Amino acid sequence: MSSSCSGNCSGCSSACNSEEKLEKRLSLIKNKILVLSGKGGVGKSTVAATLALTLARKGAKVALLDVDFHGPSQPTLFSLQTATVEGNENGMFPVETEGLKIFSIGLVMEDADRAIIWRGPAKIGVLKQLFEDVQWGELDYMILDFPPGTGDEVLSACQMLTGSKRAVIVSTPQEVSLADCRKCVDFCKQVEVPIAGIIENMSGFVCPDCGHRHEIFSSGGGQKLADLAGCGLIAQLPLDPVFLQKCDSGDVAGALNSSPVIAGEMDKAASLLISRN
Ligand code: ADP
Repeated sequence: MSSSCSGNCSGCSSACNSEEKLEKRLSLIKNKILVLSGKGGVGKSTVAATLALTLARKGAKVALLDVDFHGPSQPTLFSLQTATVEGNENGMFPVETEGLKIFSIGLVMEDADRAIIWRGPAKIGVLKQLFEDVQWGELDYMILDFPPGTGDEVLSACQMLTGSKRAVIVSTPQEVSLADCRKCVDFCKQVEVPIAGIIENMSGFVCPDCGHRHEIFSSGGGQKLADLAGCGLIAQLPLDPVFLQKCDSGDVAGALNSSPVIAGEMDKAASLLISRN
């Protein structure tokens, strides 16, 4: 309820009820982690999924909210393309799998290949509904997977999400990705969301035949970004073809199990987030 309203007026009572409901739902979520990237294709959704899984494997109550309306990846990563969303008079239930609560616009679209053509206000309305109408329950962490860049969704979420929130920025090591991530760093500073850390993805490739490490996308970029942001480089994930194949086939949990290096790095990142709650 807004501070200027007694709640008794007829004109704004439904807006006040909606705000009250939103506040109540959000007050049950201890930590909100916003996973951001400057560009698409750098592994942001994969990092959001593996971070959520790693936190859940450490015993935390975790939800993963896919806010990438134009390219929702979480249903694919968790093989949820045919999952049905249940609900009751209090709202929808997130889908539960691998110890996580998951919700994505992709779960309620009749045709997964149909493009979503929404202007900013429509996206903001849906975003609010996802916070307000999904029965998240008590959570230690909500991991939010945003579209790349710093558009309507992330700005609105920063304004709507009350309580503790932090950002994790995902970049590949090369300049084209870093340049856009510098904008994410600046965005976080402007909206006063602390940056919990940088995750450098596709950070080198170890040849399975000769064991030699190749810096395919250059090196050192993630550390430079962390220095600029004034935070830590909390994980460096190598390119791993087996990991990719498992993620693409909808087995992100198996992907994590198949790559001890990626699992170890994500474990380090999750532990750091927990230690700084
Ligand atoms: P974004 O969310 O930034 O658009 P995705 O998470 O969808 O990117 O990842 C893009 C593609 O890269 C996916 O096919 C994913 O499986 C793959 N990928 C991500 N990280 C790695 C990695 N470390 N090694 C191999 N493939 C990866």
